[in-house]
Amino acid sequence: MTTTSATVYGYPRQGPDRELKRAIEGYWKGDVSADALSEIAAGLRQATWRRLAAAGIDEVPTGDFSYYDHMLDTSVMVGAIPERHRAAFEADALDGYFAMARGTQEVAPLEMTKWFDTNYHYLVPELGPETVFRADSAKQVAELAEARALGLAVRPVLVGPVTYLLLAKPAPGVAADFEPLTLLDRLLPVYAEVLADLHAAGATWAQLDEPALVQDRTPAELDAVARAYRELGGRSDRPKLLVASYFDRLGEALPVLAGTPVEGLALDFTGPAAANLDGIAATGGLLGKRLVAGVVDGRNIWINDLARSLSTLGTLLGLADRVDVAASCSLLHVPLDASVEHGIDPRIRDWLAFADQKTAEIATLARGLSRGTEAIADELATNRAHLAARASSSFTRDASVRARAAAVTDDDIRRSQPYGERAAAQHARLGLPPLPTTTIGSFPQTGELRGARADLRAGRIDTGAYEERIEAEIREVISFQEKAGLDVLVHGEPERNDMVQYFAEQLTGYLATQHGWVQSYGTRYVRPPILAGDISRPAPMTVRWTRYAQSLTERPVKGMLTGPVTMLAWSFVRDDQPLADTARQVALALRDEVADLEAAGTAVIQVDEPALRETLPLRTADHADYLAWATEAFRLTTGGVRADTQIHTHMCYAEFGDVLSAIDALDADVISLEAARSHMRIAAELAAAGYPREVGPGVYDIHSPRVPSAEETTALIRTALQAVPAERLWINPDCGLKTRGWPEVRASLENLATSARALRGRS
Ligand code: GLN
Ligand code: ZN
Repeated sequence: MTTTSATVYGYPRQGPDRELKRAIEGYWKGDVSADALSEIAAGLRQATWRRLAAAGIDEVPTGDFSYYDHMLDTSVMVGAIPERHRAAFEADALDGYFAMARGTQEVAPLEMTKWFDTNYHYLVPELGPETVFRADSAKQVAELAEARALGLAVRPVLVGPVTYLLLAKPAPGVAADFEPLTLLDRLLPVYAEVLADLHAAGATWAQLDEPALVQDRTPAELDAVARAYRELGGRSDRPKLLVASYFDRLGEALPVLAGTPVEGLALDFTGPAAANLDGIAATGGLLGKRLVAGVVDGRNIWINDLARSLSTLGTLLGLADRVDVAASCSLLHVPLDASVEHGIDPRIRDWLAFADQKTAEIATLARGLSRGTEAIADELATNRAHLAARASSSFTRDASVRARAAAVTDDDIRRSQPYGERAAAQHARLGLPPLPTTTIGSFPQTGELRGARADLRAGRIDTGAYEERIEAEIREVISFQEKAGLDVLVHGEPERNDMVQYFAEQLTGYLATQHGWVQSYGTRYVRPPILAGDISRPAPMTVRWTRYAQSLTERPVKGMLTGPVTMLAWSFVRDDQPLADTARQVALALRDEVADLEAAGTAVIQVDEPALRETLPLRTADHADYLAWATEAFRLTTGGVRADTQIHTHMCYAEFGDVLSAIDALDADVISLEAARSHMRIAAELAAAGYPREVGPGVYDIHSPRVPSAEETTALIRTALQAVPAERLWINPDCGLKTRGWPEVRASLENLATSARALRGRS
């Protein structure tokens, strides 16, 4: 029997102290030279490889490092530089690279979007019928050489050609129905050339990542997969090929890949991807191939159940030539090291595994598989004890939370009156004009506000002084909105550091990390909180600020909450119970907040669900289940209010075309949506689907500092009015204003209010 080796597909890039972020941002500012940046990056790569090797990883990945994003690196590797960036890129590859990532005064960057259902964002390749690919293997070959120089066994990791094309979009100016996958035959020789270069540079294996194959694929797409790997596998001048998939099960793509001449497959065996086990058995095994088994969850932060993984691995041993152990996907999606989280109770910290802890688990499992469980008896005992402690802790099992969740009835998840009756009661109570104006919640988060929070944390000011600063800001925000003539006001959310973290900090059962940074895009890192225990709300979280804002004005002030689905989407979630159960607990805590806001006299309450669309499962077969619990959690949050309390929701960051029925199932009285850039398309789609309630398609694109004129806003409202009657149309920006500056916000909202007033006069 061959021995089992331990490997990973990628590692956090930033360094223990986010050195990479600082170096890159320093380079942008002109404080760090290109040479210094490249030296810092090389140092970080070496440190990572050494760290991995020391932890027992037998084969380390190369090429996963990036200054910004690995999809952008792939575009460079295949020479897909958009026309508008070409001259600058040829003049200076580094500046040209960052220009593609971030844009410059003169040229727009590539579009950025989410990497599957993670919170990592990649830069979308822009392709067209004229695209000419050209191999540029320099980065891959250089990093391979660096790692080999350390005397390590290495495996270059590349984005696979099919996934690269499936994630690409038609370049600007190219017909919208152009399918990048039609370029496959042109792309394959370029991949073959890169693989040949890697082979010449000493690679015995290369990994091609094809996560797009875990989504539903058409027969034509599956044919393309077969063609691609028959063609690449048919070359002799190449390393052995390992095709990796992750984030879900391969399904019908599994037999297709198994039938190609690639020497290995890397599969995910966590969560819904555990179905890969049956998939392999149904394919008749992967005899003759190497199987890399992703049994350690690469995108969540819990310790592995080592005994269970060993049993999975044991089953797999009978189904492939050789079985190696890995995380389910690149460890890019988790923070670096849980052991530095001194703010977390050590008894709870024992349940956490960040990248370093996962690496150790992978090494342990590989050792157990090759040498027998006696070789890892200590690790197994410790792991069993930690799992048992977690399962029986009162932190993860709060009897009163569980009893309440179990007692939820159908009535709790339904408003007591149908929409028509509610609308009449709400209109009578609020007395709003047609085309009412409002905003989405946040106003500019100024340096002063962030400074006040830093001062509070550092003890330079006390809570009283901090709260005075917040109240001063609220006075400013309310007075501006009154003067601008807005109808439904907001308090501006000045007290919120982040729309999830703010609530997470106040809910029992949530953990915050001090160093748990995860790359969101480029040099932007986020620190997702951890849904670790049963969730309860010891005290009201927002009422104080909403009540204060309401005390300053006669106009209605909206209460503002983050919805349960978004709380889950932007946190690390429990893996010891269904997501639906966690969502229900969060919803009950928020339901109490809604009740307290209502009791305090709040007539309009908004529950934001910007992430409803983004956590949609990758396989359509799983959509219905997800949407059922997700919409139920929203209705549980909001279902307890009186008929004359108006419930708003808000969504953004996505195309909502495939969740229209879920939007309806939320049964919110008013929904505001991002719509300015897509020229109100969502308003038309909702109308076409017969959506019966009130809609506020955004008329002000808040992603840009540009101030839309009153004429522009009026034109957008007119477009919306073709789909939605004036009685049901709200006028608002696309999203919150926290990232904008006051001058543009003032001018834009004044224009927005002016347009609404002008159109009212006429309607
Ligand atoms: N109420 C939030 C805000 O205005 C909504 C943010 C969001 O949708 N992402 O900031
Ligand atoms: Zn938004």
